[in-house]
Amino acid sequence: MLVQSAMVAQAPRQFKSSFIRDILAVTQQPEVISFAGGLPDPALFPLQQLKHSTDTIQQQLGGVIYQYSATQGVPGLRDYITESLCDAEIDASQVLITTGSQQGLDLISRILLDGVLLDNNRCAVLEAPAYLGALQVFQANRAHILTIASGSQGPDLDALERYAKTSPVSFFYTVPDFHNPTGVCYSLAQRQRLIELAQQYGFWILEDAPYRGLRYSGETLPSLQSLAPEQVIQLGSFSKIVAPGLRVGWVSAPQEIIQTAINLKQATDLHTSNFDQHLILNFLQQGYLPKHLDRLKTSYAAKMNLMADTLETRLGKKIRFKRPEGGMFIWATLGCRVDTRQLFDRAIKQGVSFVPGSAFYENSLIDYSMRLNFTNSSEDDIVQGIDRLSRLIETC
Ligand code: PMP
Repeated sequence: MLVQSAMVAQAPRQFKSSFIRDILAVTQQPEVISFAGGLPDPALFPLQQLKHSTDTIQQQLGGVIYQYSATQGVPGLRDYITESLCDAEIDASQVLITTGSQQGLDLISRILLDGVLLDNNRCAVLEAPAYLGALQVFQANRAHILTIASGSQGPDLDALERYAKTSPVSFFYTVPDFHNPTGVCYSLAQRQRLIELAQQYGFWILEDAPYRGLRYSGETLPSLQSLAPEQVIQLGSFSKIVAPGLRVGWVSAPQEIIQTAINLKQATDLHTSNFDQHLILNFLQQGYLPKHLDRLKTSYAAKMNLMADTLETRLGKKIRFKRPEGGMFIWATLGCRVDTRQLFDRAIKQGVSFVPGSAFYENSLIDYSMRLNFTNSSEDDIVQGIDRLSRLIETC
């Protein structure tokens, strides 16, 4: 189904940002078990390793780590990313370190939508539902947003093709590995078809990959970038695999895009924190990442299965969801036709929260799904929180 929204309605947008603020405010109350945020488990932050890396860089590099540095980012960090974290044939000169991948989203959408570099096709195609932070960035950069439906089977690529035939599509934005909010991972066939479409119709693919390192089961599939490095701009991040407070991410893209992004970033914030980049680089050089990732994956997989088991046991057919193979979210849909925005108000009173599905659509105000984060709660809270939620849903 095509959902075109050239006339972006102001009311839903205002509703959305204040609604998200409301959610975060209420879910931070200590008596509420929150499945709402997209937060990693703070108990798993690698504090000792980060302390050791801090001491080491201070000893080895002294004041350098507190000095201004190059806009493109610390060379060793860019080397590590291309050699060990990307599966595509790209060079360190094609990597720009950003202040979280959120900044990458902003820089790239400014380039692709404002015609800084290329002809200014203003259409951005997104899945519905989509990562809210991306929706906000594209709206702020005055995109003409088009959406294609996306469900448990992945995106409706026929709809994307229809848009590509009829509209000046600049790019398609996607999270192909463990989508936020749906948790879906694109199949190999879907990846290949998407690349074919981008090549045939000449649009960019903006591949947002913050959860790619968090796979709990199944086989790792090639990134979109590895299938067509000349057609894909990839966003990466250390937020989910090390710590989000450090605000270190990256963009990797063809040279023409990266050079323009460097100029824009220079005007935006000169460079990403030099200290944070050196800290992460040392963490990687000490070889801490693989073991840390194993620890994260073991813990998150167990929590995901616990949440899924508890939902199944308590609610059976009253709720539908697919166990994600990775990432941080379960996307669950109610069997009864109750708007989850309404359910949210009642859930808060019972001491449990989630993000109602409507928050992830540009202008849909009624939705029967909810996003449940399983990484940030303890196992006890997962059982207790799902129990509270189940008691509400049972009576729907
Ligand atoms: N993309 C997606 C899909 C996300 O879920 C997030 C954060 N939740 C981001 C980008 C931004 O992450 P960061 O700026 O911390 O790298």
